[in-house]
Amino acid sequence: MAERRTGAVIEDQLLSPTLLRFRVEAEPGQQFPAYVAGQHIPLGRDDCKLTRKAGTASDGKPVCEPEFDPWGRQTVGPLKQYYSMASSPAETAEHGWLEFLVAIDHGYHGLPGRLYEDLYHAGESVKCGVSYYESVGGNFTLEARTREADSVLMIGTGTGVAPFVSMLKELHAQDTSLKSGCRYTLLQTGRTVPELAYRELLSEIEGAGRFDFLYLPTISRPSSDDPTDKQIGRGRANNVVRHIYGLPTAEEEKATGATSEVTRAAANLALDRLVNPILPSHVSVASLVPRLDPKSTVLLACGNPAFLADIKASTKRCQLRFETEAGA
Ligand SMILES: Cc1cc2nc3c(=O)[nH]c(=O)nc-3n(C[C@H](O)[C@H](O)[C@H](O)COP(=O)(O)OP(=O)(O)OC[C@H]3O[C@@H](n4cnc5c(N)ncnc54)[C@H](O)[C@@H]3O)c2cc1C
Repeated sequence: MAERRTGAVIEDQLLSPTLLRFRVEAEPGQQFPAYVAGQHIPLGRDDCKLTRKAGTASDGKPVCEPEFDPWGRQTVGPLKQYYSMASSPAETAEHGWLEFLVAIDHGYHGLPGRLYEDLYHAGESVKCGVSYYESVGGNFTLEARTREADSVLMIGTGTGVAPFVSMLKELHAQDTSLKSGCRYTLLQTGRTVPELAYRELLSEIEGAGRFDFLYLPTISRPSSDDPTDKQIGRGRANNVVRHIYGLPTAEEEKATGATSEVTRAAANLALDRLVNPILPSHVSVASLVPRLDPKSTVLLACGNPAFLADIKASTKRCQLRFETEAGA
């Protein structure tokens, strides 16, 4: 069984109301196990407020309620969850810490995320304990998923960008054979500009030009408060992929295919809210077509399951290789 150790949160930063970035240092006298960019590790705490599923809401999301002991107190206990490393192996070798990008789950119907709530409340005072297990895992890595590809299209929505941040930082740091001749493109989508975690760093890596890397950030809920930055495109990740490969948006396709009054009304409502895909101003579809030729490209996706399903369907239509991190 994997050894359980007690590390500490040494730094945290609230990037947006929905995203938290934090670093964890290893147990004193220990080092984190070696890992490859794209892998994940279990983190846990012993005093999480436990909950139970009380039902399912009409949108399919769980409705939860606190779990009580026979004396009417909320049950508290250990909980372990998996998180992708957003740090790179080179950074961990140099500084010792692991970095994570975590979604703040305030709970749609009921209670907030159990581990997040415990960690964040404790994390407000830096150096709170967090356990980790010496069992780094997963094969969502460049070695395992991109063999024989000349071009890698990475798509990360929300915290799904974390494994790609790790991979790109590593490519920037290392002189590996992986980067020779291969083109890397990252489409990162957040709802708002602050949700584009690591945007500055990714732009810096692109600007440094140490390997062939193109960064495409887009936001799916632009508002008048957003700074006007033409380097940031618009639209949900699935629709940007459709735009690049010459397909209509998912909303347009649903409206065209609607067969009843009810489905037509729902599709038209979605169409009214559609944020049309627009690429960052320095990039055009014409310039992306040869770069992302389906014959030599592999698409790696991580993030919101609903968008991943649509992206997967688009890759099938374009005969593009699709790879994802199951369960992330
Ligand atoms: C390989 C892998 C990599 C991952 N990487 C990341 C990452 O980099 N960043 C990241 O943020 N997440 C990542 N995740 C997801 C992460 O493991 C957690 O599932 C997530 O952070 C929620 O944990 P939590 O304890 O805070 O929330 P939970 O308590 O599990 O709550 C999640 C949702 O379920 C509801 N819920 C609460 N209690 C229950 C219950 N008893 N039964 C059913 N539903 C309940 C909550 O209301 C909430 O909406 C990854 C998952 C995998 C498998």
